[in-house]
Amino acid sequence: MFEYAPAPESRDIVDIKPSYGLFIDGRFVDGSGTPFKTINPATEETLAEISVASPEDVDRAVKAARKAFEGWSALPGSERAKYLFRIARIIQERSRELAVLESLDNGKPIRESRDVDLPLVAAHFFYYAGWADKLEYAGLGSKPLGVAGQVIPWNFPLLMLSWKIAPALACGNTVVLKPAETTPLTALLFAEICQQAELPPGVVNIITGAGETGAAVVGHPDVNKVAFTGSTEVGKIIARTVAGTSKKVTLELGGKAANIVFEDAALDQAVEGIVNGIFFNQGHVCCAGSRLLVQESIYDDLLGALKRRLALLRLGDPLDKNTDIGAINSAEQLAKIRELSNIGAEEGAERWSPPCDLPDRGFFFPPTIFTGVAQSHRIAREEIFGPVLSVLTFRTPAEAVEKANNTPYGLSAGVWTEKASRMLWMANRLRAGVVWSNTFNRFDPASPFGGYKESGYGREGGLAGLEAYLDV
Ligand code: NAP
Ligand code: MG
Repeated sequence: MFEYAPAPESRDIVDIKPSYGLFIDGRFVDGSGTPFKTINPATEETLAEISVASPEDVDRAVKAARKAFEGWSALPGSERAKYLFRIARIIQERSRELAVLESLDNGKPIRESRDVDLPLVAAHFFYYAGWADKLEYAGLGSKPLGVAGQVIPWNFPLLMLSWKIAPALACGNTVVLKPAETTPLTALLFAEICQQAELPPGVVNIITGAGETGAAVVGHPDVNKVAFTGSTEVGKIIARTVAGTSKKVTLELGGKAANIVFEDAALDQAVEGIVNGIFFNQGHVCCAGSRLLVQESIYDDLLGALKRRLALLRLGDPLDKNTDIGAINSAEQLAKIRELSNIGAEEGAERWSPPCDLPDRGFFFPPTIFTGVAQSHRIAREEIFGPVLSVLTFRTPAEAVEKANNTPYGLSAGVWTEKASRMLWMANRLRAGVVWSNTFNRFDPASPFGGYKESGYGREGGLAGLEAYLDV
């Protein structure tokens, strides 16, 4: 084993206030609900006290967004673009601060927040800034919907914010966004960035709170568009709430992606892709490659290489630049991962983790593999949303397709093979919104993202992402 000297990123760059209000109409105001605390999941220390928006506060935010809509939607696209470009540049300038804050509040390794989340967040604003004055050219008309109510999860707090806010503003809508209860801090820093960019008041409103606050946003009668990313369970509740209204809806929900490795694949690259597929962001990824499908002929070789690689992963302090696996976002999520993993063992799958010391404070779970998994096992069917991989085998391409599609979800899939013809054959048959070819968990603002079946409906990103915010 290698011995590394700790290389922690300094947290001095962020200035966390003791308490935060709601960002409504360009100003921070107190919420009328009972405030809650957000913690650092790697240490369990309290980071700040956060306001809770009551239904009345939600109403104030929606009114502010409605008022701002008049002016914002009347601006020429080229003017709206200037604001978005300005926001994108400020995000780049302050990216180190945002990355440290994201890792503190979420638990993800600084290497990921710095090198993946933040560059993608800025890229999203740049990308949609570029579309703002070209909507007619895109063939979608240029009529915005109005006020967008947006609710996002905790796994990519700032990235999900950018996926929601950038296209909404580019198309001339105004926004009321609720971040997840456990990860509000970067959204609140983003609110300060809106002030810094002199975005007109009310164009972006950020309101914090728990599920009830989210429900109040979604159910508000004067919201024209609902954009939600989160669990399938809550997605279904939201679909029922908006049914029969004129609200336009996009739902980005859960997943249980297959990562399929054929015998002709480059094995070492495939191992890296499997690790990136399921251990990136502690496996808190809707499109995570949580089911590994291995062609039977290479099973022993691949599993051996994978286990050797897992023994090299470093788990611990998210702010340490050497860390590969950080903290699980909350005690609640850790309990869910533990429960499903115990069920996996009870169902008869074989559990394996590399030797791995867990820190004595904070929420951590070791990288875990289950082998001997059957399709009927709960660990093969349900989203674990943690660093846990279920391994299954197949013999023929047709069997791989059959097993990969045997899930209520359909968000993503990965295929590893040297043969382009087989890649295309597979991609045409996999029921997944994204199919990665000899890679996994790659994102680009120009590429649409979204699911089939219980993974939701609508697409975010690319040209398709504009359609979700226009009256087409
Ligand atoms: P969640 O419980 O559904 O929460 C998502 C958001 O909805 C949070 O802001 C949450 O607030 C809020 N919320 C809870 N109940 C609500 C209600 N009744 N009405 C309106 N809003 C409500 O999901 P999660 O456990 O935080 O996130 C993990 C899930 O997100 C996974 O299933 C994952 O697959 C999915 N996800 C999907 C994508 C995608 O693009 N498809 C991307 C990332 C994550 P609180 O935080 O206060 O509970
Ligand atoms: Mg937190």
